[in-house]
Formats: sequence, structure tokens, C-alpha cells
Amino acid sequence: MIALLPDLSVAPCGFATDKKLRIGRTLKEDIRTIIGKKSLKIYKASLERISGVCTNCMLYKIHKGDCRVESIANYKKFGSPGFLCQEVYEIGLLPKNLLYTSSVRKNKNTGGYK
Ligand code: SF4
Repeated sequence: MIALLPDLSVAPCGFATDKKLRIGRTLKEDIRTIIGKKSLKIYKASLERISGVCTNCMLYKIHKGDCRVESIANYKKFGSPGFLCQEVYEIGLLPKNLLYTSSVRKNKNTGGYK
């Protein structure tokens, strides 16, 4: 899914209002060029490099780490875990039966998530 925002820029979804998350501007580029851009592929690849609590989650195959835009906006990293679950996990309130093991292996590329 992609979204055309009110200022005619293109983003992975309508909630990606941060300029850093945008893919292109229709005032400057053809929409077909924007859709073919590497940056859109990076969003998709973000799911393959997911880190944090999602790597240990029984629901990952169906839930895929929740909203990618929200995670990337909050952690400033592609491949970052689902924001709400990671935050809840870090304060020790994520239900243990959601996880395969009780501890989460930290991704060397993300370290701390903030
Ligand atoms: S966002 Fe939460 S429920 Fe979804 S895959 Fe990650 S840990 Fe599991």
C-alpha cells in the first residue's frame, strides 16, 4: 500500500507524515518512478530484518511486527520491532505465553531500540 498525501508527496501509508518517511513527490517525479524506488523496497525488506521482541513472538508469521511505519518512526531504524509490544516487553508486562522463550535476543544492528 502507498498513500498520496495532501501535499502531493507519496508515503508508505497515510500515517507516514514525517518527511523522512516519504518516498517521493509527485510534483517532481512521475508516480511510476516513485513506486519503483528503492526506498519502497526497503520498507518491504524491513520485515525480513525485524528485530527485538518480534523475533521471539509466536504471532510473528501472521502479525509481521505490526505497523512498519510506526516502528520506523519511533525507533528510527528499519527492521525495528513492533513499537507497542517492544515497549510493553521492556517494562516486563508482555504476556510470557506470547513468546517462544522468556528472553529476547538483541539484534546487533539495533542494540537498544531507541
Ligand atoms: S508486534 Fe507484537 S504481536 Fe506483532 S509480531 Fe511483534 S511481538 Fe508479536
